[in-house]
This record gives sequence, C-alpha cells and structure tokens, in this order.
Amino acid sequence: MVIDLRSDTVTKPTSAMKEAMFNVEVGDDVFGEDETVKKLEAKCATWLGMEAAVFCPSGTMTNQIGIKILTQPYDEVICYKGSHIYKYEGGGLAGNSNIGTKLLSGNRGRISIEEIAPVIGNINDVHQARTSVVALENTVVIEAGSYYTFDNIKKISEFSRSKGIAMHLDGARLFNALTETEEASTEVGKYFDTVSICLSKGLGAPVGSVLACKKELELKARRIRKVFGGGMRQAGYLAAAGIYALDNHIVRLKEDHKRAKELGNTLNQLSWVKSVMPVDTNIVIFEVADGVTPEMCLVKFSESDIKALAFSAVEIRLVTHLDFDDAMLDKAITTFKKIHF
Ligand SMILES: *Cc1c(COP(=O)(O)O)cnc(C)c1O
Repeated sequence: MVIDLRSDTVTKPTSAMKEAMFNVEVGDDVFGEDETVKKLEAKCATWLGMEAAVFCPSGTMTNQIGIKILTQPYDEVICYKGSHIYKYEGGGLAGNSNIGTKLLSGNRGRISIEEIAPVIGNINDVHQARTSVVALENTVVIEAGSYYTFDNIKKISEFSRSKGIAMHLDGARLFNALTETEEASTEVGKYFDTVSICLSKGLGAPVGSVLACKKELELKARRIRKVFGGGMRQAGYLAAAGIYALDNHIVRLKEDHKRAKELGNTLNQLSWVKSVMPVDTNIVIFEVADGVTPEMCLVKFSESDIKALAFSAVEIRLVTHLDFDDAMLDKAITTFKKIHF
C-alpha cells in the first residue's frame, strides 16, 4: 500500500466515477456540440452564481485566461507574492498577458484593503501602470491552505470595484474553503468577474478546470482558450468525471480536513519537527528540526511507502485527498512516530 501525500492531484478516478464517464453523450466541443461539456459548464456557472463557464484542461489555463480577458498589455495585477498565478505558472502573466504584478505579503497569503490601496496605480499619472485586476487565491496553497471568509472577500471586492478594478479568483481549492466556512458557493459570483476552479484536486476528477465568468466575457474566454490550445473535442468524457466529482466528492472534503489536522497534531509532537503551520484545510506544511533535512525525512518515509513533497530547503508538504483513508492515516501516524534521527 503506497501512501501518496505529495498532492491532492494524485487521485485516480473511482469505479463509480469511471462508470459515470462511460455512457455520456459527447460531440465536438470546438463546434459547441458536446452536451456533457455544456452540462458541466452550466452546472458550474449556476453553482458559482455566475452567468457563464468554460471547461479547460488545467487550472493554469483557467487562471491565465481569466487574467488575460480582464487586462490590456502594460497593466498590472495585484496579488499575494506567493500566489500560484505569479509563482507557479511559468511567468505566464508576463508572457500571455504582457502585464506586470504588484506583489503583497498578505496574512498567510490573504491580502487586505490596507495592503492593496497604497499600490494601486494612479490612472491620471502617465508614469504609472494601470491596475486592472486584484487576484485572490482561496485556499492559499503555499500557506497550507489558509482561506478567506466572504466577509473579507466582500470588502476587497467592493473596494476594488469602486476603483474600477476587476476581481479574479484562483479557486483551485475553493470548495475546501467553503467546507470550512460553510458559506454558499452560489454567492461567490457576486464578488468576482472571473473564477477558476479545479476539478482535479480534492474533488478527484482526472483532468479539468472551469473558468466561470460574466456573460459578456464568455466569447473572449473561449477565443483565448482556443489560442492557448485548450479547445478540446469529445471532452464530455472528462466533463462527466467533473460532474460526478461535484455531485459526490464535495461533501467528503471535511474528512480530508480532519485527517490533515490529525497529521498536523501528530507532527507537532515529534522531535524531528520544528514547527507545523496551522492546518486549516487539507494541506500540512511543516519545518524540520535543525540538523534534519526534508530529504532525510523523505528517505525514512519511503521505507514505509509514504510519499511526501520537499517544499523548501527546510519544509515538507503533505496533502490529504480522496485516496487517503483512515487506515492510511493510522499507518502514516505510526510511521512518523517511529522515526528518529
Ligand atoms: C493546482 C493549482 C492551480 C492549477 O494547477 P494546474 O496543475 O494547472 O491544474 C492553480 N492554482 C492553485 C492555487 C493550485 O494549487
């Protein structure tokens, strides 16, 4: 039994999900003829309280399209300095949208009006770049899955829009956030112009992300998706997995959070662990003790068939997911407790 805690992207489709993928109606989605893709898009738009949605191969693509359709070259986007759109998308903001970034420190990745206000470009000053988007990430992946509440989001959104600035949400793990806050997904659309969600993370679909947006942005989003090479043909088989994931795998996210918390509690008590970031959702990030390296730990883990990710020179990341059950949790905890350096 291999226990893979490197990411929540490592899950494989369940038999029920595969069953759901077999017998769906498909067609050429570039011609707009795939009924299952249309069904997934309509479902996501409704669930997110937005008017339209576009199915894409990856969350990087949905983020990059979202930002591109809200900006012009030379503009700037304001975001957390460790945000996925900036740090983990290969410089795509510069390459795809020809824009700059104003990077904020945030409170475990959550940015605030106090940080945003002073860095907005003065539109009347020709020296300054135009600030066109504030981008939030929820949950924040490199901050161990910290999350925003609607109260915070609403304030940022109202403030930004009052300055003529659009709002993008990288909601790769939005449903993990909503699991904790118990807020309604249908409210999300009020606060954003574009919202990206991943079906292939905690929700357990094999492939796919969705960009939800306003109706007036839909054609633009579809055009950019084509330009980026994201127009897919009989993609309904993948969309069916996404529909199944939304219907069946959101309710179980709280189990992932519970298991992540248990891992965090265990690690907090161990001699080879210096500190554990607060475990808010399904991501555990911890720093190893002095004299220990992440690589040394990973070698010990692998002796018990446990995989984790070296996250920095001193940190390790563990992510819980659909393919990590209570038996695996017990084994991981027992293994971690036995390790000594
Ligand atoms: C995984 C992830 C994405 C998208 O990644 P893809 O691998 O391109 O699907 C975007 N944002 C965050 C915060 C993520 O964790």
